[in-house]
Amino acid sequence: MQEHLLHTEKLSLASHLASSVAHELRTPLTVIKGFIQLSLKNSEGKTKAYLENAKSELNRVEYTLSDFLNYAKPQLEHIEDFAISDMFNQMMEPIYQLSQMKDVRLEIHSDDDLWIRVDRLKFVQAITNIAKNAIEASNSHSGTVSIQAFKGSDSDVCIKIIDNGCGMSEDELDKLGTPFYSTQNNGTGLGLMVSFKIIKAFNGKIEYKSKKGKGTEALIWLPSINQVS
Ligand code: ADP
Ligand code: MG
Repeated sequence: MQEHLLHTEKLSLASHLASSVAHELRTPLTVIKGFIQLSLKNSEGKTKAYLENAKSELNRVEYTLSDFLNYAKPQLEHIEDFAISDMFNQMMEPIYQLSQMKDVRLEIHSDDDLWIRVDRLKFVQAITNIAKNAIEASNSHSGTVSIQAFKGSDSDVCIKIIDNGCGMSEDELDKLGTPFYSTQNNGTGLGLMVSFKIIKAFNGKIEYKSKKGKGTEALIWLPSINQVS
């Protein structure tokens, strides 16, 4: 019990610290980026290459900061009722673009009349992070990522995100959601931590099944609601 409390306290301190630091860094970062952009216009050769490099590193810092802010801001402010099929339509653009860039097949299906009560933006973010990982783990040209939603039981809906990509070992599966755990070149290792936290906040559950070299399945259950029309 004692240990549990300490852990919770540490987490809340960590998230408070994360959000303060992220906020503080954002403004100077924007200023630096602005000056780099200006300098880029009047530069050439090696100087231009150095500045391009600096800009892309700054972009990386920005990604990390926005992941941090998402982690640190768990408040759910805009809870609404949504049909999953509508939400799938809205969220697919970035996922679709990523799959096109990697030449990975994307299959999306939702049964009708699956209603959930969530903060749409947060929920979309949670699913997007998981789907992005699935695409990133897939092989170009032969990969397929399938996103499906269906009725799980009377009281919940199930969303499955399946890929036939690189898969994970038991050890790797255990590390999912751990801050800064990443095997991606440009990864922050914060995506799944944020997704897990959001799904939990909606009283949902998530489980991963994976086989090294074969692929991965993420299963998400969320309480469903009856929409009276
Ligand atoms: P990031 O994407 O920034 O690396 P995430 O928290 O989103 O951070 O994911 C952490 C790590 O989990 C990834 O780097 C990858 O190694 C592993 N992972 C997540 N999803 C999958 C998947 N579908 N297939 C294989 N590995 C995965
Ligand atoms: Mg990720």
